[in-house]
Parts: sequence; C-alpha cells; structure tokens
Amino acid sequence: MTQAALTPLLHEIQQIHENTPDLTGFGPWPSDLTYAHRAPVSAPVVALLPGRLTTLAAAAPYLEWRRTYRADEVGDDFLNRYGYVELFGPQGHFHSTQLRGYIAYWDRRLDYGWHHHEAEELYFGLEGTPEFLSQSKPSVTLHPGQTRHHAPWEVHSMKTHDTGFLCYALWRGPGLAGLPEMT
Ligand code: ZN
Repeated sequence: MTQAALTPLLHEIQQIHENTPDLTGFGPWPSDLTYAHRAPVSAPVVALLPGRLTTLAAAAPYLEWRRTYRADEVGDDFLNRYGYVELFGPQGHFHSTQLRGYIAYWDRRLDYGWHHHEAEELYFGLEGTPEFLSQSKPSVTLHPGQTRHHAPWEVHSMKTHDTGFLCYALWRGPGLAGLPEMT
C-alpha cells in the first residue's frame, strides 16, 4: 500500500526538519498531516537520484514526480534530468494547509532560469553545491546543511555545476497552493 511505502520517507524528512533550527524557525513540522492518495507519476529523473536520503529510492516508484514547466520554457534536457515531489502540502502525498514540503533534484549542469512565486520559500541543501542567484541579493554557493531564503515574489534562479542538487524545500504563507512561473 502506498502509505506504507511513503511513511519512511516522511519520517526521515521529519527527523531532518525537527533537528534543523533554520527549518523549524521557518515553520514547525505540520501538526495537521493526513495521508492523501496521489497516483504515482514517474519521470526520467528517478533513475538519477542520489543516495543522501536513505528512504527515497524505495519510495520513488510511489511518488508523483512533477516537472511544472514545458519544453519550450526549459528544454528537453532540463525536463529529463529534474523533478520534484510535494511530500506534504495542499496537493501533497500528505495533506497540510500549514506548510508545503518538497523534495527536488536537479542533475549536474542545469540552469533553472529566473522565476518567482507568491509563497515564501526556504531551500535546505541535502547534497551538491548549486549556485543560487537573486535579483535582490548576492548569489551564493549553497552547501549541504545550509539554507537559502526567498521572499514572496523574489525573482531567483539556480544553477547546478559539477554536482547534482538534492534538496528539501518549504513554502509558507499566501500562495501556498500556487506554482512558480518563469519571469
Ligand atoms: Zn522558488
């Protein structure tokens, strides 16, 4: 059953969340989580996932992998080597209206172009050293265990270089159920 396949991943993320002050400061671990079945959707990125999350490989076939963008926006190579899941949130595998939590992966040498969204965002690096760029603050190289914050409607982008980037990302506030848009 899918819930049993996804619960270890939820618990691994919960452990990371509750042991990381930057994450609990952005939003406490949701208290309203309920399982919500979502049909699995595969994507080529599943074959590329790194091993930093020990429960991810077993859960991957049961996850709804999303890509959001169209080939004419980001190109086929990007779509073949990127993907994310909404682990919890308004449309997540576990429903919450308090906070939205994603697991996302970009393979090496991808350019996630300028985009924005209403919700406030916090990235938490799990593996890899991507470059985060913003139109309102200096760019940084994010190392595992570090966070990168984006304010509502902040225009930002991200590039991976010699390493892929696995992250846990959070959204909160107005626009929680929205989507990012290229700018
Ligand atoms: Zn963002």
